[in-house]
Amino acid sequence: MSVFYSNTKDALENRRNFLQELGIDYRDLVCAQQVHGSQARYIQETDKGKGALSYDTAIPDTDALITHERNLPLAVFTADCLSVFIYDHRTPGIGLVHAGWRSTRDHIVGKTVKLMQEKFNTEVKDLSVSFGPAIGSCCYTVREDFTDFFPGDLIKRNNHYYLDLVRINKRQLLDLGVKDKNIFDSQICTSCRNEEFFSYRKEGTGCGRMMSIIMLA
Ligand SMILES: [Zn+2]
Repeated sequence: MSVFYSNTKDALENRRNFLQELGIDYRDLVCAQQVHGSQARYIQETDKGKGALSYDTAIPDTDALITHERNLPLAVFTADCLSVFIYDHRTPGIGLVHAGWRSTRDHIVGKTVKLMQEKFNTEVKDLSVSFGPAIGSCCYTVREDFTDFFPGDLIKRNNHYYLDLVRINKRQLLDLGVKDKNIFDSQICTSCRNEEFFSYRKEGTGCGRMMSIIMLA
């Protein structure tokens, strides 16, 4: 589920109001100091509230969080990057990934699933995965040399090159053995629908962020 921030000043209040409706205390959120890397971290009860009220206390150097604790809400923040929600219904366990192009290049979804396998014996056949709103291949122009990172994956139209983050992350999940029927895409392009969603590419550095959260109830 995603919520929208208009500016930093309002962010905490938006967070509190939105999460209150879901019965979640905003002070319990676990957030990451996202770095466009590929590090996933195992989150436990002792991490509850890290990053909820200030960036300084967030989990450092991390772009994916997993847990199998109940009532421990995990959050990532995006504006064009892809959020990936992972649910293992059997364990049960959850994961939440912030996947921009660098993290996608470095196979962050695979590393996250691997950590879930290590920490709570997740089996890929039990996984359901959802993609949040992200910039689509309709709008995501990249340099031609991105083909070094994503060989065979760039889409060429009218002498421009485009990247499809969803397609590449989906393929990485399928390669791991996640079932096609268990992968869901919001099919929302943040740039095409910038009136409703923040788009860093469209708005620039002052752009707000969308929060994606996942929690085992
Ligand atoms: Zn678009």
